[in-house]
Amino acid sequence: MDFSISEEQASILLSVDKMISKFLPPEEVRKRDRNYEPPDFLLKHYAELGLLGIPFPEKYGGLNEKWLTVTLVNERLGYFAAIAASLYGTTLGFGGMSFLKYGSEDQKKTYIPKIIEGKLRFSLALTEPGAGTDAGALITNGKKINNGWLINGRKTWISSADKADYLVTPVRTIPNSSGSDGISIFLIPRKSEGISMTYLEKVGNNCLTSWDIGFDDVFVSDENIIGDKNDGFRNLMSTLHYSRSCQASNAIGQAQNAVDIIKKYVVDRIQFGKPLSRFQTVRHRIVDMQSRVDQARMVLYRLAWLIDEGKRCRIEAAQAKILASECLQYVTHHGMQLLASSAYSLDSDMQRLWRDSRLYTFGEGANEIQKEIIAKEIGL
Ligand SMILES: Cc1cc2nc3c(=O)[nH]c(=O)nc-3n(C[C@H](O)[C@H](O)[C@H](O)COP(=O)(O)OP(=O)(O)OC[C@H]3O[C@@H](n4cnc5c(N)ncnc54)[C@H](O)[C@@H]3O)c2cc1C
Repeated sequence: MDFSISEEQASILLSVDKMISKFLPPEEVRKRDRNYEPPDFLLKHYAELGLLGIPFPEKYGGLNEKWLTVTLVNERLGYFAAIAASLYGTTLGFGGMSFLKYGSEDQKKTYIPKIIEGKLRFSLALTEPGAGTDAGALITNGKKINNGWLINGRKTWISSADKADYLVTPVRTIPNSSGSDGISIFLIPRKSEGISMTYLEKVGNNCLTSWDIGFDDVFVSDENIIGDKNDGFRNLMSTLHYSRSCQASNAIGQAQNAVDIIKKYVVDRIQFGKPLSRFQTVRHRIVDMQSRVDQARMVLYRLAWLIDEGKRCRIEAAQAKILASECLQYVTHHGMQLLASSAYSLDSDMQRLWRDSRLYTFGEGANEIQKEIIAKEIGL
C-alpha cells in the first residue's frame, strides 16, 4: 500500500493553503460565522486554481485527476472552515458527479465546463417534511404536460438553495408508485415561477443557509430530467459515495483543526505550576482524539482509492461517513471540556466547531442508516 502524496497533490494543497490564508483567514471565518455571511466568493478562486476541474475528463475541460485529490483538497478546506469545504464538496459531489455519472452527453457538455469555471451551483432538494431518513417516502410529484412537467410539493432543510442555479430535485413521476420506484431527478432552475423559499434558523453551520422550499405548479422542461426517467432514485443513490466522501473529508479536516487547537491550549495553559499537557489524563485524551482522526482518515483514503479504482465501495463510504462524523463530535465534545471557559466564549473557534459538528452524524444519511447499509452488505 502506498500512502504517499504525489508532488502534484502536494503542490495543489500548497496553493489551497495560500488561497485560504489570503482570502479566508481565521478572523474572517469567525466574523462570517457571527454575521451569517457565506464566503461564496471562494468559488471563483477554486476555479482559478483549477480545483473544480480535478475529477472531470479533459474533453469537458477537466484535469482528469483522482478522486483522492478531491478528497485531500476538501479535507484541507474543512481544516480551515467547514463552509469552504461544503462549497467545494457540494459543487462537485452531487452537482458535478451527477452529470458525469448519469447525465446525457448533451448535459455533460452544457454543464460540466460551467461547473469547472465556478459559474454553476447546485443544491440537492431531497428531504421533505415526511421523508427524512426514509428518503424514498417522498411525495413531491410531477404531472406530465406538453414539453414538460408541472412540479408540486415541498422540500425542507435544503442547504444554500438561495445561491443555487439549479435544485437537483427527486420527484415522483409515476403516480401511486412507492419507495425508490417511479422517481425522476429534475434540474429545476431556482428562479422558476412557482418556487417559494423560507429561511430556517438553526444552532450551527451559520454560513450554510437552510431553506424550506415550496413548489406550486413549477414548470420544468423534459430536457431538465437528469438520468433515467422514472428510475432516477437509483441514479442518485449510485453517486452517494461521492457526497459521503466529501462529508467525511470535511469532518476530518475540522476534527484535525480541533485537535490542533486543543494541543496548543494545553501546552500553553499553566495550572498547578505546569502546562495542562503534563497531566496524564489530559494528554491521553488528546492521544485518543488524534488516533480517532487518523483512523477515520485511513478509511476515507481507502474509500477514495476504491473510487479511483472503480471498485464497489458502499461499505467504505458508510464507514468513512460514520467514523468521521463520530470522531468530529468526540473531539469537539472533549475540546469544550479541555478549553473550558475559553471555549465557551463566542469568540472561540472551539464552540463553532462543536456547534457545527452536531449535524454530521445525521446529515447526508443518518449514521443509523449507514449501519443498515453495512449490515446488508455484510450479509445480515
Ligand atoms: C443543516 C442541515 C442541512 C441539510 N441539508 C440538506 C440538503 O442540502 N438537502 C437535503 O435534501 N436534505 C438536507 N438536510 C436534511 C437531512 O438530510 C435530514 O435531516 C436527514 O436525512 C435526517 O432526516 P430527519 O431530520 O427527517 O430525521 P428522521 O428521519 O426523523 O430521523 C430521526 C432519527 O431517527 C433515526 N432513524 C430513522 N430511521 C431509522 C431506522 N430505520 N433505524 C434506526 N434509526 C432510524 C435517524 O437516524 C435519526 O437519528 C439537512 C439537514 C440539516 C439539519
